[in-house]
Amino acid sequence: MKKDVAVIGAGPAGIAAAIQLRRNNIDFLLFEKDRPGGLLKNAHRVENYPGFPNGIPGAQMVTLLQEHLDSYRITPLYETVEALEYLGEEKLFLITTSTAAYYSRVVVAASGASPRRVDAVDALPLPLRENIFYEVFPILKERGKRVLIIGADDEAFDYALNLGSYNNEIIIAMPGQQVKALPWLIDKAAANPRIVFSKNVEIKGISAGKTKNLCITFSTRGERTEGEVDYLIVAAGREPQRVFYNPLLITRAKELKTVGRLYEIGDLANGSYRQAAIACGNGIRAAMQIAACLR
Ligand SMILES: Cc1cc2nc3c(=O)[nH]c(=O)nc-3n(C[C@H](O)[C@H](O)[C@H](O)COP(=O)(O)OP(=O)(O)OC[C@H]3O[C@@H](n4cnc5c(N)ncnc54)[C@H](O)[C@@H]3O)c2cc1C
Repeated sequence: MKKDVAVIGAGPAGIAAAIQLRRNNIDFLLFEKDRPGGLLKNAHRVENYPGFPNGIPGAQMVTLLQEHLDSYRITPLYETVEALEYLGEEKLFLITTSTAAYYSRVVVAASGASPRRVDAVDALPLPLRENIFYEVFPILKERGKRVLIIGADDEAFDYALNLGSYNNEIIIAMPGQQVKALPWLIDKAAANPRIVFSKNVEIKGISAGKTKNLCITFSTRGERTEGEVDYLIVAAGREPQRVFYNPLLITRAKELKTVGRLYEIGDLANGSYRQAAIACGNGIRAAMQIAACLR
């Protein structure tokens, strides 16, 4: 199948791009490997998106984004993009998914940023790893649990606020001395008696617990302690999600972006400026630029 545009990823960036493409009557495909809404499914409350003066839970924003797609009759193709190649001579992109191959003149990559993995955690045996996560989403329905979150940035604190609002007991273990989260989030976490945080924590070992799923051995300022938790969440930052780029495409990406054939938008391209409103703005801008070129 051949289309003018392929949008890869139906997070806020890809959704904004798709809606604007539809408004310009441009023929496109929107690929999504999971479900629309992207990372917002993890967010406790989105409080800086203009138009929601009281903030909005991330899950509710995901529902609204889905409704927005529905209102434009945009149905994503629920397929994982496994490879993206630029076929230079024919000047088309080849998009290979788990089930089919597609061609497009322009690609909008909106695949976001994936959690940075930690080798030592991934090397643990499976029964332990079943209770260790890189996102909060899989355990959002849990109540009355004890959860250790390793991290010091916005995500660690947002995860804590999310779980802490559902009667869970949360410990944020920060590897260093520096807290990197927004003061706004730190103040909210400090005000929640179910959330405690401690600095300079070094994880020394993870094993099976006796009363809870995991036994964590850690050292704080040289003092070694053990504690049991139901779950561990690792919030070690994020990395741009380009695993499906063909190696040649990586080398030609800059040139293709310059001539308006490849657009990288949202968290994929924004470094530390990972925010939904920025991602949406990127999506609308890319779609308007594509419309101007194809017209
Ligand atoms: C805990 C947390 C709290 C946050 N709170 C806020 C907040 O309060 N305010 C705010 O503005 N922002 C917040 N954010 C950030 C915001 O969620 C992101 O900036 C935004 O979701 C980025 O949108 P995106 O579309 O670029 O990427 P993503 O949301 O990551 O979406 C990318 C999409 O691409 C899909 N995808 C990836 N690879 C493939 C593939 N190979 N094939 C098909 N589909 C693929 C993914 O499944 C996903 O749906 C928060 C994020 C987190 C994690």
